[in-house]
Amino acid sequence: MTPAAAAFPGIRPPSDVNPRTDPVLDFPDREYGSLVSADYAALGFLGGLEVHQQLLTRRKLFCRCPAGRYVDRADGEVLRHMRPTLSELGEYDGTALMEFKTRKEIVYLLDRGSVCTYELDDTPPFPMDDEAVEIAIALAQLLNLNLVAELHVMRKQYLDGSIPTGFQRTAMVGLTGRIPFRVPALGVDRALSIRQLSLEEDSCREVSDVGHRVTFRTDRLGMPLTEVVTEPEFLTPEEMQAGGRLLAQVVRATGRVRRGPGAARQDVNVSVAGGRRVEIKGVDNHRFLPRLVHNEAYRQLNLLRVRDELRRRGVTRESMALPDKGIPWACSALVADVGRLFDRSRHSALRAAREAGMTVCAVRMPGFAGLLAHRTQPGLTFAHEIAERVRVIACPAHDRFLAHSDATEQVGMTARRWRDVRAAVGAESEDAVVLVWADALDAATAAREVLIRAQDALVGVPAETRQANHDGTTGFERILPGADRMYPDTDTPPIPVGDAAIDRIRVSLPETPWARADRYRGLALTPVAAQRLAAAPWADVFDRAAPAAGDLARRLAASLAKRLPYHRRAGRAIPETAGSVLRDALARIAAGDIRAEALDRIVDAAVTQPGVPPAEVLAPFAPPPPADADQLVERAADAARRMPGRRPDTLLRWAMGEVMPRVLGQAGPRDVRRRLEERLAAIGAEAAR
Ligand SMILES: [Zn+2]
Repeated sequence: MTPAAAAFPGIRPPSDVNPRTDPVLDFPDREYGSLVSADYAALGFLGGLEVHQQLLTRRKLFCRCPAGRYVDRADGEVLRHMRPTLSELGEYDGTALMEFKTRKEIVYLLDRGSVCTYELDDTPPFPMDDEAVEIAIALAQLLNLNLVAELHVMRKQYLDGSIPTGFQRTAMVGLTGRIPFRVPALGVDRALSIRQLSLEEDSCREVSDVGHRVTFRTDRLGMPLTEVVTEPEFLTPEEMQAGGRLLAQVVRATGRVRRGPGAARQDVNVSVAGGRRVEIKGVDNHRFLPRLVHNEAYRQLNLLRVRDELRRRGVTRESMALPDKGIPWACSALVADVGRLFDRSRHSALRAAREAGMTVCAVRMPGFAGLLAHRTQPGLTFAHEIAERVRVIACPAHDRFLAHSDATEQVGMTARRWRDVRAAVGAESEDAVVLVWADALDAATAAREVLIRAQDALVGVPAETRQANHDGTTGFERILPGADRMYPDTDTPPIPVGDAAIDRIRVSLPETPWARADRYRGLALTPVAAQRLAAAPWADVFDRAAPAAGDLARRLAASLAKRLPYHRRAGRAIPETAGSVLRDALARIAAGDIRAEALDRIVDAAVTQPGVPPAEVLAPFAPPPPADADQLVERAADAARRMPGRRPDTLLRWAMGEVMPRVLGQAGPRDVRRRLEERLAAIGAEAAR
């Protein structure tokens, strides 16, 4: 049993493999947006979410540095190298080895005002920040989680350099709960299982990552963060998006979380039948989420197709094995140093590489002919899987570093040169060949990674974390950490969570989004409108206007949903006074003093006139003295009369268009039309006389 499992006997590491082992290889490739939920069910789609949210505290979690002080200055720098150490179980973690292979130099930029010796592991942790613990307990209660009796601080291995100590301190706050998951627009009405909520430290902000040097700022490091993990229960990409939005609403309901760029980040994990859980990191926008996970589902399906084709061709793992040690081109017949072939090459990228003293090596992939061009994601092929892995682990600093035999036309090399390259590694017609060029050490790492990725192709879907790209595709980030990455932190004693504290926090819990939606349904809103309003940032404005159940509540919800997105896009904040303006407006509409049609424009006025007393904002919407409307009708009818040769109904329509915008909300269209008809008829009769 892993140390983590020992500390929390209820928790078993999640199974990484999709419960359905039969891939549906004949399912056609489709773009996002063209599948219905039955299609995703056929694919065996399963998704889960990990939502990270920065908490609004004054201080960091384990020291007394200020939280949320982001600066671009630096008083000093620290340089570190990471080395893997054996875990307590006597094994190397795959992620740790991978990070070691990258030979990264890690630079930390330190700003005196936002970091101390704790973050750099020179001082033991201080007691956990009270505010953070309190917010996390409130959130755990909102999510109906079972609270732990004591907070046990654990260390979670973190080896990408974003935490200088190589581990993140994290404490489980609550586990195994369920919340209502209702999305009327998707026909979803069930419970969503939450696996756990932890309170943990945030990592560094990355400044740059070029070649073997990665630079971080330490201001964000150590800020309190909650991590909410759902079970993999989402059945379509749209459900995942709705789930992400729901969890964001719950955390925001506490009113004690940070907002703005980077304050909320989620990791999404996806698998399809025959595949395994792949984690896409750092999805910071719900809008892009469905396309990303749809594409990942298809990437898995396509990797399974490649796997099956390789099996059919009889390709084995052993055929791609490389000795553990030694320079690949010196110890393996699959790899050759082919640099001299390019010394007088016309192919500019390779010639430049040679002139810069780089090594060019060819790697034979037995039985892979044609498969490097197999589509995996929109616009990308299996070769991209290999290139990304080389880019992340061998860290070439140049953009172009790889070419392959399934796309010979792309690199501008002559057919003859390709024949020479193939001959150098003894490639037969059924083999593919990859060319990589970089400094000798990087080229050696690259050649190994090409073959490791080729071996993984026989597994199908490698266990890895991936990075989200804005076009909806993903790229390799790192190997998925093993379940052994957590171990107890001996620096911190357990912190008891007292019943008194829990009760005190419970009485001041905010309303949950689902309770809110129920309340709006009680005001006679439709389920869809109630759900939307509960999720909307203007729900508080609606509440302050306090509409009575029925037509006015429905109208107000509709007007807010129609007008406020427009104002928000225009950068206008909703003023404090909007609620009272709307409350008075509803009262006057109910009294027949203002017409309900004016509500959209009243919302506009309430937003554009912050701080103005309600009576003043509403004055233009009260009915004008009757003479005003009469005058407008008369003037429009007179003007219409001076348009000879027009049909009466054309004139009437024109006159309506003149009068209505000026009396909107004060006189009804039917009334204006009647008065115009009368007036035009009278003029017509006069003219006929
Ligand atoms: Zn500090």
